Amino acid sequence: MSKKIWLGSGPAKLPDEVLSEAAKSVIEYGNTGISILELGHRSKEFIAILDEANALVHELCGLTDEYEVIWLQGGGRLQFSMVPMNFLGENETAGYIDSGFWAHDAAESAKLYGNVSLLSSSKDINYTSLPGWPEVKEDLAYLHITTNNTIYGTQWKEIPEVSLPLIADMSSDILGVPRNYNQFDLFYAVAQKNLGPAGVTLVCIKKELLAGSKRVLPAALDYQKNAAAHSLLNTAPVFAIYVCLLNLRWLKKKGIENQLLENERKANKLYSALENHPYFTLVVTPESRSRMNVVFRATSSEIEKQFSEFCKAHQIDGIDGHRSVGGFRAALYNAITEEDVDQLISIIKNFQPTND
Ligand code: PMP
Repeated sequence: MSKKIWLGSGPAKLPDEVLSEAAKSVIEYGNTGISILELGHRSKEFIAILDEANALVHELCGLTDEYEVIWLQGGGRLQFSMVPMNFLGENETAGYIDSGFWAHDAAESAKLYGNVSLLSSSKDINYTSLPGWPEVKEDLAYLHITTNNTIYGTQWKEIPEVSLPLIADMSSDILGVPRNYNQFDLFYAVAQKNLGPAGVTLVCIKKELLAGSKRVLPAALDYQKNAAAHSLLNTAPVFAIYVCLLNLRWLKKKGIENQLLENERKANKLYSALENHPYFTLVVTPESRSRMNVVFRATSSEIEKQFSEFCKAHQIDGIDGHRSVGGFRAALYNAITEEDVDQLISIIKNFQPTND
């Protein structure tokens, strides 16, 4: 179906099966006589979509019944504000680990609502490695981390237990690496990387945390009210949630364990192909390297330009690094197949710069 290998970091590639099913439903959803784009968010058909999506999130993340699953709009950026709005009192302090651009932005957003303590940061080394895991004091309102740093290509693999609410932005690695999801009191993920299309954000939150909102908020910004309304406080993004469901079904059919092993193989083989390469360098220290976003540079900006063009000429796109850092970034989310990665590796092997 797709004519290109799309390695963009979000919106990202979706499996062909998911795209064809979604396309069919745009013409008519099941036998309803209407398009999925026309389906009412309070219809019995959509309630069934929502219920199944919630159940699959529980199942694939291995969550206990202690969690509520909520689908919200406003993207990751809104979560950066909703978390402190709900859980950081004016005179309290929240701990943030500054492991990259988005992690930093989350911390900055929280400063509007209370005090923020940056417990550790790798900004001084341009985020080329994860910062050390800090000592976490229990008197903090919560600890916020970013499990995968999309722009810099670093990722927490093991996360120590902490004895205060643990909140994570999992936007770019949810269901992509082995994780004990029950370790978190709240985790959120924008859909457009490893879950579905843009327009919806998944939030999983422990019921006991729901009771502890720190301020009176507009209903749309209040987790408890959104949970009580079962994600239907306002008109839900029906199509975006439906495509997430198709993707979750696809993942279940494939087997989450198989997917996680495949992701490990994909990343390992790409890192190996780039290691000790004459024209490319890996930016991130080995122990911090992400399985989801492989970041690399070429040895000169001229070679970077040539490689970028070479990729496009070979139907590989979306590989240019984030505009703030340059270089390259291959997003290896679940829909990227091993064959896609093999093709990228063969492009890397065949690449010969001119006039170097
Ligand atoms: N968190 C992470 C880890 C991200 O990678 C991104 C976007 N790339 C965001 C948050 C922001 O998401 P949004 O654009 O939906 O606000």
